[in-house]
Order: sequence, then structure tokens, then C-alpha cells
Amino acid sequence: MDYAVGAIDELRPDVLFLTNPNNPTGHLIAEDDLIRLIGAAPGIVIVDEAYGEFSAGPSAVRLLDRFGEKLIVSRTMSKAFAFAGGRVGYLVAAPAIVGAIQLVRLPYHLSVFTQAAAIAAIDHRAETLASVAHLSAERDRISVRLRELGYDVIESHANFILYGGFPDEAAAWRTYLDGGVLVRDMHIPGFLRVTVGLDHENDAFLAISEQLAPKESQ
Ligand SMILES: *Cc1c(COP(=O)(O)O)cnc(C)c1O
Repeated sequence: MDYAVGAIDELRPDVLFLTNPNNPTGHLIAEDDLIRLIGAAPGIVIVDEAYGEFSAGPSAVRLLDRFGEKLIVSRTMSKAFAFAGGRVGYLVAAPAIVGAIQLVRLPYHLSVFTQAAAIAAIDHRAETLASVAHLSAERDRISVRLRELGYDVIESHANFILYGGFPDEAAAWRTYLDGGVLVRDMHIPGFLRVTVGLDHENDAFLAISEQLAPKESQ
């Protein structure tokens, strides 16, 4: 946190993006820390909550009254709504900010079909977001198991987990692939990132993770 505030003080950015929860770590910035970062920023702060639905933390939307035109909170329908094909997201901000964005937004940036689909998805959010609670529970189950296996697991508030302990993560990635499991190599030495899937997919992932587990804890 001190490092981030120091960087803001040094660089004085006009626009500061905060991804909360973060990708690829899944880390959640606590609200007190978020308030400190927004307070330190000299310009506009955009809090990107692409994974917000998977997190137990409050949305930064509730800080809008406090920070007014300094704060923009954005979300996407690509993740929790499983609607990446729709290419649609939304933001919440003070009326002056929304008005300014409307000035530069072109009419064809969002088709009427996409807008209709997005509104339908929101109207039916009990169904479209039904998988979020289960995915979050599966994320926690996977995290516990990976820790038991001796991996270094970063606590995740998203629908993926960054975990490490691989002497050669590229070789491990290949082993997963050969076993029919696709994880992501984020080019962080020793670490891979797994996205939570269906229960049986998660079990297949854990079975290979057992084979690859850091030796001393087996
Ligand atoms: C996925 C994602 C987005 C938005 O994705 P779109 O599919 O372009 O809506 C934004 N920020 C982060 C951190 C993401 O992971």
C-alpha cells in the first residue's frame, strides 16, 4: 500500500486504474486502502470491478458520494454473466462524468441487440448470476486443497486462482495440457493461474495438481 501511494505521489497520474479484485492475483484491496489510494490520487480514479460479483467485498459504488467526480466504477458482463460475446460493460459515476462520456461515445459503440441482451441478462440476474455462488465455493475448495498440497496460493476474490511452487511452470503447464486441463501461464516465475470450471473439471485439475505438488509436503 505504501508502495502504491509512493508511486502515485511520484508519478502524479491524471488517470489511475485500480483493478479490484485484481487480475491475475485475485487480490482484493480493502475499502480503507481503496479510500487511501483514491485520496492520494491527483486526478480521476477508475475502479475496475470486472470480478466484483465473485468478491464478498463491497462495491466502490458506495464511495461515490464521498469522492464525487473523482471516482468511476466499472464492471463488465464478460465474467460473472458469462456474456463475453456481448462485448458489454457499464459504469457508475457522477452525472457530470457520465455526461462527458456521452459526448465522446459514438452511437454505434453498442448495438441495440447487445443492449437488449444486456438488459434481459440484468432483469434475469437471479438466473444469469446463479453460478457465481457455486463458482466462489469451488474456488475456495480448490484453494484449500492446493494449500494442503503445499502450493503457495494467493487468496482469491475472483473466479481464478494464482498459485505457485513450480520449479518450472512452463513444464507444469504442459503436463496439465497433456492431461486435458488448460491453465494459464502468466509469466510469473513459479506460478500458474487456474480458472474455476465445472466441478468435474476442477477435480481433473486437482488430480494433476496432486502429481505436480511440491515434494516436501507430499
Ligand atoms: C475481463 C476484464 C475486463 C473487461 O473485459 P471485457 O470482456 O472487455 O468487458 C476488464 N478488466 C479486467 C481486469 C478484466 O479481467
